[in-house]
Amino acid sequence: MTKKPGLSMYWASSCGGCEIALVNINEKILEVIDKFDFMFCPCLLDTKKKDIEALPDKSIEITLFNGAVRTEENAEMANLLRKKSKILIAFGSCSNDGCIPGLSNLYSAKDHFDTIYLNNPTVSNPGGIVPQRETEVPEGTLHLPEFYDTVRTLSQVVDVEYFIPGCPPESNQIWDVINSVIEGVKLPPKGSVIGAGTSTVCDECEKIKEDKKIDRFYRTYEIIPDTKKCLLEQGIICMGIATRAGCGSLCPKVNMPCSGCYGAPDGVLDQGAKMIAALGSILNLEGDLTEEEITGHTNKIMDSIPDYAGTFYKFSLAGSILKNSVRK
Ligand code: SF4
Ligand code: SF4
Ligand code: SF4
Repeated sequence: MTKKPGLSMYWASSCGGCEIALVNINEKILEVIDKFDFMFCPCLLDTKKKDIEALPDKSIEITLFNGAVRTEENAEMANLLRKKSKILIAFGSCSNDGCIPGLSNLYSAKDHFDTIYLNNPTVSNPGGIVPQRETEVPEGTLHLPEFYDTVRTLSQVVDVEYFIPGCPPESNQIWDVINSVIEGVKLPPKGSVIGAGTSTVCDECEKIKEDKKIDRFYRTYEIIPDTKKCLLEQGIICMGIATRAGCGSLCPKVNMPCSGCYGAPDGVLDQGAKMIAALGSILNLEGDLTEEEITGHTNKIMDSIPDYAGTFYKFSLAGSILKNSVRK
């Protein structure tokens, strides 16, 4: 019997949604199992780390690595799976751009520990105990992996062949990528984004754009939008203009704004900066305004956005040009 190529999937700092997205290819998962040896997936299989360590280098054909690198253990697994895999794919927004875990780069590791274990109304910790790297117990020394000060993307830690974006990636896109490998289709050059488009969510969105200007922004609960018209032009921050195509404009389709989970489109270095720049063209600053009036009006409109980082960098902070340079 011919040996099947190996497939592995790992979750680092993540939520598990990426595993669900893989299983969401439904009955096609049987085809995946038929064509690949599913070798490692802590969420689904009982293979241990030592089993992977025992494999020859590059003996796994494809590893889908989801999750950001938050801890020493995450980095150790990224290095191990890099070594053992021919094709390492950053799978999902957390490993591509940092996603929601990346927002914690606004705070240091100490800030996190203080909030989680000490200064929290629901915590009673009179001894002020926080997790230690090593703890002595009668049975020996317990070790915890280091909790890094900064969340990193997978490619900030190891060399990566491909990037599949999305939170999570759409199942049909995942299948297209896996099927290409099954069918022996030549993969694009190393470093490419696969399983997604190159343009923007706006290009996929069917809502009517009218070049309207706005006087304020609304949170989604503050306005009932016209379902046929562009949400951004109604004052709802929709990141479609700064977000890679590929999901079929899922969120605007159900009248929710795109929050940017597919990351920056081709040619855009920083998704948040692109979005902020794009907002300049929709603010209502028309008329014979003085410089002072323009500044005042711009500040007033921008003040209606409650959380800049969570709005513009919800999925991309760790992978952005800001990385960990802004601390609250
Ligand atoms: S990309 Fe989204 S779905 Fe996937 S692990 Fe991260 S938070 Fe979860
Ligand atoms: S901004 Fe949003 S609603 Fe408007 S066209 Fe782009 S994706 Fe559609
Ligand atoms: S519309 Fe935006 S937030 Fe929604 S799935 Fe697509 S890329 Fe993600």
